[in-house]
Amino acid sequence: MANEEILIHCDFSENYNLKYAEEVQSYHFGGSRQQITLHTVVIYSRAHENDLKVDSFCTLSESLEHGPGAIWAHLFPLIKLYIDNGVKLLHFLSHSPSTQYRNKKMFAFITNGIYSYFPELQSVTWNYHEAGHGKGAPDGIGGVCKRTADRIVAQGSDVSSFSQLVEILKANCSGISFLEIHACEIEKFSDAINKAEVLPFKGTLKVRQVRSLRDHNTLSLRELSCFDCGERCLHYTIGTLSYNSVTKSYASDEELYIFDKGNKAKLHYYNVYSESSSDDDIPLSEWKKNGQLAAEFPSSRSI
Ligand SMILES: [Zn+2]
Repeated sequence: MANEEILIHCDFSENYNLKYAEEVQSYHFGGSRQQITLHTVVIYSRAHENDLKVDSFCTLSESLEHGPGAIWAHLFPLIKLYIDNGVKLLHFLSHSPSTQYRNKKMFAFITNGIYSYFPELQSVTWNYHEAGHGKGAPDGIGGVCKRTADRIVAQGSDVSSFSQLVEILKANCSGISFLEIHACEIEKFSDAINKAEVLPFKGTLKVRQVRSLRDHNTLSLRELSCFDCGERCLHYTIGTLSYNSVTKSYASDEELYIFDKGNKAKLHYYNVYSESSSDDDIPLSEWKKNGQLAAEFPSSRSI
């Protein structure tokens, strides 16, 4: 990883239930208490003399949205911190739920949307690991936050409002930076994402990495992560989505897709379905194993 590159490992933690200290003994947890979203992020960057720098973040929201609009609202202020300090290449790493990180709305935003917010940004990869991948560093942050809040409640204090939770976490989790994300921010990103052109991709469940470059309007989709190739990966390409940045209406499928001709790429016209058909229905059993990311970046850290 060069100085201009960072790796952003992110995950939604299980929502936190606000609680009153008095309730703890008598109540069954998980009733109708207000829930809070915790999006946990570990960012790996290169500091001076190439030392690996690891920063932990937890962004919190009263909105329980976990879709693409929420993801970008939660990530935006963190990304901005680094881009303001000269970062130009972003690598994301996450699980691959189709309702959250790996879907056509995310693909569209990674191709175009994100660049409109960050004029200095040059390239993005989003890398997906399987659900059974085990606990990663973001899970550790979520665990620390919940245990801390529960401990405070057990000691007799209420954690009954959003602001109380944020205050308590800020005061007691010194290694983690906290930030509140307002529902209006999430709405703003959701609106932008919902207005943008999206393209279906039949092989979505096979996608383990997508890569975009500024001003290219295309997204390279790969069945394994590759950090060696540029826009076209000669090793793992399973397709390329080509967006029409000018009009939002759908042209014919043939015009919208550029088909890779590499050995591995066999995306034919019949793989391209209309908007209404499911584009996420390839069984997990077709996935291939990938051990590369773990070797490339540290995947866990004691907090
Ligand atoms: Zn490659």
